[in-house]
Amino acid sequence: MEQRVSSRVRQIAPSATLSVDTRTKALIQEGKPVINMSVGEPDFDTPTAAGFAGIKAITDGNTRYTAAAGTMELRQAIARKLMVENGLQYKPEQIVVSSGAKHSLFNIMLAICDPGDEVILPAPYWVSYPEQIRVAGAVPVIVDCSEEAGYKLRPEQLEAAISQRTKAVILNSPNNPTGAVYSEAELRALGDVLLRHDIYVITDEIYERLVYGVRHVSLPAICPDLMPRTLVVNGFSKAFCMTGWRLGYVAAPPDVAKAMVSLQSHATGSPSTISQAAGVVALDSFDPHMVEEFQRRRDRLLAGLAQIPGIRCVKPEGAFYAFPDIGDLLGSSFAGTTIENAGQFCELLLEHALVSTVPGDAFGAPRNIRLSYAISFEQVELALERIGGFVRQLRRP
Ligand code: PMP
Ligand code: GLU
Repeated sequence: MEQRVSSRVRQIAPSATLSVDTRTKALIQEGKPVINMSVGEPDFDTPTAAGFAGIKAITDGNTRYTAAAGTMELRQAIARKLMVENGLQYKPEQIVVSSGAKHSLFNIMLAICDPGDEVILPAPYWVSYPEQIRVAGAVPVIVDCSEEAGYKLRPEQLEAAISQRTKAVILNSPNNPTGAVYSEAELRALGDVLLRHDIYVITDEIYERLVYGVRHVSLPAICPDLMPRTLVVNGFSKAFCMTGWRLGYVAAPPDVAKAMVSLQSHATGSPSTISQAAGVVALDSFDPHMVEEFQRRRDRLLAGLAQIPGIRCVKPEGAFYAFPDIGDLLGSSFAGTTIENAGQFCELLLEHALVSTVPGDAFGAPRNIRLSYAISFEQVELALERIGGFVRQLRRP
C-alpha cells in the first residue's frame, strides 16, 4: 500500500481550535492554572428548560431515530424562528437539522461542490471552512480583508474574486475570529454584486445573538432575490450554550435541502433525538443577560489590550473573540528564543504566562492571535495581567 490514507485527508490539517483546547484542558487536568482563551465555547449553562426537555425525551422513551432531516416539530420551530427573528420565509421542508452547524456546513460543501469548483472565502475566516471546501474537492479562493476595512469583505474585492469556476461565497457575520459584524448597508452592497452572478451564498449566522450595540441583519432578508441560492446556517451551540449537544441547521432552497438530506441519511442517519427535543425548547429560552456579560468582558479586554505595547486590536462588535494584531512583536525574543511567528508567540504565552490562545495562521491571518472572552470577568482581568507581563519581558531586536 503506497498511501494508507486518502489524498482527501492528506491535504487537511486537524482543527487548530479543537487541538489547542484539548491540550489546554489536559494541562488544566494536570493542575496547571491555565486560563483557556482558546476555544469558542460559551461558559454559561444550557438553559434549564432545554436541559429538562432533553431528560424528558429520555424518560419518555423518545429515543429512536428521527427523520434524516430532523423532527417536524423542530423544523417547524426553526421555520417560525427564521420568520419572526430574521424575516425569512422558509417551509419546514427547507430546513435540514444536523449534528452541529459544523456538520451543516460540511453537508453543504459536499452537496453543492464538484471537484475544481471555487468557493470564495474572506479572510480572516473560521478554521474549518477551507478544510471542508478541500474535502469536497473544491478550491478555497481566499480574499484578504484588511484591518482598515474592519476585516470585512468589500464589494469590489468580491467582484474581482468571482470567476467562471466560482460556486459559492461564504459570509460569516458576526465573524469568528474577528468579531466583525456587517451593517445592513455593507450587506446590501455585497448583495448588489451577488445579484449579478449566479453563485450560492452561504451565510453563517451562528453568532447572530451575540452583538454589542449593533444589529444583526440576515442578507436574504434585505436581498430577497438571493433567496433561491442562499444557504442560511445557524445552530444552538452559541446562543443556547449547547456545544456538546451537537445541534445545528441550514435553511436552503428545496433542491439543495433535499440533496443534503439524502447525503445525511447515509452519514449520521439523523441528528440526536434527545438534542432535537431540547432544541425545540431552547429556541424560546434565550437569556439576554449573557449578551450584557459578554459585552462587559469585551470592553474590559479591549481596554486592557490597548495598554499593552505592540498589540493592536480592532473593536469586535459581535461573537466572543478579540483578534489582536501582534505583528509588531514578531522578531522579539523571550528568554533567548526569537519569536518568528504567531504560533511561537502563543506557545510561549501558554508555557510561561499560562494563557492559552490560538495563532491567527489557523484563520488565514498570520499576524494575529485569537482570544476568546467566553471566560469569567475575573479571568479576563488575570489574563490581561499575564499577557501584559509576558509582553513586557520581550526583548525587541
Ligand atoms: N460556524 C462558526 C463561525 C463557528 O465559530 C462554529 C464553531 N462553534 C461553528 C460554525 C460550528 O458550531 P457547532 O458545530 O458547534 O454548531
Ligand atoms: N467554533 C469554535 C471555535 O472556533 C469551536 C471549536 C471548533 O469547532 O473548531 O473555537
